[in-house]
Amino acid sequence: MHTFAFIRPADAAAAVAAAAQANTAQQGADVRFVAGGTTLLDLMKLNVETPARVIDINRLPLDTIEAMPDGGLQIGATVRNSALAHHPIVQRDYAVLSQAILAGASAQLRNMATTAGNLLQRTRCVYFRDTAMPCNKREPGTGCPAITGSNRTLAILGASEHCIATNPSDMCVAMAALEATIHVQGPNGSRAIPIGDFHLLPGSTPHRETVLEPGDLIVHVTLPRPIAGSKQVYLKLRDRASYEFALASAAIVLTIAGGKVTQARIALGGVGTKPWRSPEAEAALLGKSADAANFRQAAEASMRNAKPQSENKFKIELATRCLAHALHMAATS
Ligand SMILES: Cc1cc2nc3c(=O)[nH]c(=O)nc-3n(C[C@H](O)[C@H](O)[C@H](O)COP(=O)(O)OP(=O)(O)OC[C@H]3O[C@@H](n4cnc5c(N)ncnc54)[C@H](O)[C@@H]3O)c2cc1C
Ligand code: SF4
Repeated sequence: MHTFAFIRPADAAAAVAAAAQANTAQQGADVRFVAGGTTLLDLMKLNVETPARVIDINRLPLDTIEAMPDGGLQIGATVRNSALAHHPIVQRDYAVLSQAILAGASAQLRNMATTAGNLLQRTRCVYFRDTAMPCNKREPGTGCPAITGSNRTLAILGASEHCIATNPSDMCVAMAALEATIHVQGPNGSRAIPIGDFHLLPGSTPHRETVLEPGDLIVHVTLPRPIAGSKQVYLKLRDRASYEFALASAAIVLTIAGGKVTQARIALGGVGTKPWRSPEAEAALLGKSADAANFRQAAEASMRNAKPQSENKFKIELATRCLAHALHMAATS
């Protein structure tokens, strides 16, 4: 049986100092923070994660949501997903984030899951979670059985010959469309990381999923001032209506004036190896009439670089329809 020491640091500095002794902040870490535990404890039970030390960050004062002087919003790392989704400012100004969170998991899970934990949730690829199987993400150099095996739910954008796992988060897709920034306190000070730079493509090192280093504690996430008059939608398509991860999803932040699209921020879920911002779709929409033909054209542009696996070619048309319909929903909301 796997044994580990459980640590409750008095403050963030002590948490960072304890975690800074880790061999890595990526797969194989011997020290892990625990927040809601809904990802970490599952993976520890499966022996996919085997930390020697687990640092409980739940008592740190990181659980508040605060309006910032510049008009943006600061979300503490341990704010529960349910508290974030139901916060009045989020519902009013960042509706896409509220919708995305409420489309994920179950009410019970959302009551435990935290902002930082959600940013760092791991793929649901079945081989990753089964230690009897090889997996480059879990054990570098062992191979990727998903490429010739079960890959129906896996990625069609951003994959490599070493890993084709999908990033499963809904929240992160909305945060990508909202251009969130992740604030980290580490052994060498604090830094701010735009969400587009936070998750890494698998390349030849799929075990490295983010830019985090040993000791890095996510302290909060900020959202920029909301775009005045923006229409926001999160649409998630999945095999069943609840308690299921996305096969394809779309997060939209759109402004329309005089029938034309004046601003568009678009991110996709369920199809990419990381939360997938689509500059192709955004460029295709800008200055165009907000109509069905242009929405379809933009959605097709988002799939221009898609490379399906043996079982998931259907995702190209599914994601295209998902995005086109989400744009229609936003435009008519
Ligand atoms: C059955 C089930 C269904 C689900 N369905 C969905 C779904 O449909 N959509 C979806 O988006 N998600 C879904 N989830 C995932 C869920 O959203 C995540 O498990 C949850 O958000 C993780 O948050 P947590 O606080 O519990 O993380 P934890 O398990 O506590 O931590 C996860 C990781 O983050 C690290 N970590 C936590 N906090 C910090 C911090 N402050 N700084 C640095 N590292 C930190 C931990 O060390 C760990 O590696 C589902 C989960 C389950 C179990
Ligand atoms: S897709 Fe990635 S996570 Fe899944 S088996 Fe291949 S290497 Fe492992």
